[in-house]
Amino acid sequence: MFDVQKVRAQFPILSQTVNGKPLVYFDNGATAQKPQVVIDAISKYYSEINANIHRGVHTLSQLATDAYEVSRNTIQAHLNAKYNHEIVFTSGTTQGINLVASGFAAFVKEGDEVMVSALEHHSNIVPWQFLCEKTGAKLVVIPMNEKGELIISEFDKLLSDKTKIVAVNHISNALGTVNPVKYIVAKAHEVGAAVLIDGAQATPHLRPDVQDLDCDFYVFSGHKVCGPTGTGILYGKESWLNQLPPYMGGGEMIKEVTFEKTTYADLPHKFEAGTPNIAGGIVLGTAINYMNGIGFDNIARYEQELLDYGTKRLLEIEGLKIYGTSEHKASVISFNIEGIHPYDIGTIIDKLGVAVRTGHHCAQPIMNYFNIPGTIRASFAFYNTKEEIDIFVEAVKKAQMMLS
Ligand code: PMP
Repeated sequence: MFDVQKVRAQFPILSQTVNGKPLVYFDNGATAQKPQVVIDAISKYYSEINANIHRGVHTLSQLATDAYEVSRNTIQAHLNAKYNHEIVFTSGTTQGINLVASGFAAFVKEGDEVMVSALEHHSNIVPWQFLCEKTGAKLVVIPMNEKGELIISEFDKLLSDKTKIVAVNHISNALGTVNPVKYIVAKAHEVGAAVLIDGAQATPHLRPDVQDLDCDFYVFSGHKVCGPTGTGILYGKESWLNQLPPYMGGGEMIKEVTFEKTTYADLPHKFEAGTPNIAGGIVLGTAINYMNGIGFDNIARYEQELLDYGTKRLLEIEGLKIYGTSEHKASVISFNIEGIHPYDIGTIIDKLGVAVRTGHHCAQPIMNYFNIPGTIRASFAFYNTKEEIDIFVEAVKKAQMMLS
């Protein structure tokens, strides 16, 4: 049984006051809070087994290496990847996308096309622009509609044998739309294009099955799934990771180095140059285990309740408009109130203890589409409550009164 009060008790930060008010943390899309098991696991690593990995024969180095590799296996199982060497530790979603986009120059030439969507975070746009600048390929954009959904009939039309890779998010951070990624993968494969899925906003809400999706790459960030910042995962199909050139050169990613020629280590080490965030990588496994312990079915069911309740309550406010009204939506509500700048609302409700994100959410093309400077975004996690939504709605009403 899912008991939210029991869950909340595992997150020390949630019992804090901010500006003299109990904290209502609705900025989960930016980063998730950490349960005590995750905080303890970081301390335990540094207190008991801190050593560099894959290097020493000494006991601590082996313990640290084993823990790091156990975490890789945990993540492999979590994503249902076929092999554990398809799991590459990164510093986050941004690095995972840059790694693939940078290496993809080997497969793209002038006149080819690289496809992204109108719903992307800047980190799934800019690295592909770099690729296009480097190769002369063209960036093609799947358009969206007023509900914040991708126009799939347009995607079908845009695909051609010129398309070399399609990079789309699983769930939009700015609007919460859940994209039909399985369909996108299947269609892209028909023209021989690879697909990268940005799972930064999906992994906190659902458990992706990379073999079922059949995607070529899937990336996400540890800090959004209750893990540490500076951690992330790139899943890549073995065949793609073998073909892709290394991203960074350095220690640990080589087989043999001479001044004439260097050969690279096997997967996944080819992509893991230098000393990684060892504690972070290990504790990301702890965080994934924690979330699986809560259960993604429970998370999805409960967050849907929060989304429905939050949407209903917010729509009581006169002049409030929600952006992102797809039926396929994660627990994210992006909105504005007529005549008021989102930043002003965010600043006032912060004084009332409520943390939300305001601005363009690193998705300026979406804001341009709606012709707005930004939105107020409330993003709920499984440890939030309807009572918190009530506090938040009252805070927004108060801000509206003060500002109109
Ligand atoms: N893509 C999406 C959809 C995101 O929401 C984010 C984080 N806001 C990122 C990419 C970038 O993630 P990170 O900053 O953790 O690398």
